[in-house]
Amino acid sequence: MSSRVHIGLGSNLAEPAEQLRSALQAMAQIARTELVGTSAFYTSDSLLPGQPRYTNAVAALDTGLEPLALLDALQAIENQHGRVRAERWGPRTLDLDILLFGEQLIDIPRLQVPHTQLHLRAFVLYPLAELVPADYQLADGRTLAQLLAHCPFVGLERL
Ligand code: ATP
Ligand code: MG
Ligand code: MG
Repeated sequence: MSSRVHIGLGSNLAEPAEQLRSALQAMAQIARTELVGTSAFYTSDSLLPGQPRYTNAVAALDTGLEPLALLDALQAIENQHGRVRAERWGPRTLDLDILLFGEQLIDIPRLQVPHTQLHLRAFVLYPLAELVPADYQLADGRTLAQLLAHCPFVGLERL
């Protein structure tokens, strides 16, 4: 049994686009996991003042791993890319977030899926829309089109 999973990638330190390219290669090597799609890269200003600009993308994976095993693998990749957990939402070499895990609704201390900030972030929704049809229904009933309609394409540059 495998699940279609969408991962949000982000970086704003140490050559962000290179970090994302390297992370995509690393995700393709995760056990029982195949990289099946990648969005374009997008840049945007940080939501917090005083940080470098971000580069973001979304990847689609098919995985036979359970959600927490996939999270372990993603956090190992973050660490390999020099991720330092200093302050919450601080600048980072690499952030890999699980946006969607098939149809699953997950709400445990280590993992909430769909990602709780998904609907607020243009830099997540627009790349996700390259990989998922607009009528795609999230586990809680919202469609991707509804989320996009409430989240204008402002401040984003598609590379
Ligand atoms: P945000 O969640 O607002 O994007 P962040 O990505 O900067 O913030 P991190 O420091 O990367 O936050 O992760 C903090 C913790 O969030 C992780 O240790 C992980 O256990 C937890 N977490 C909860 N839900 C998710 C998810 N869907 N994907 C990745 N990590 C998650
Ligand atoms: Mg994040
Ligand atoms: Mg994260």
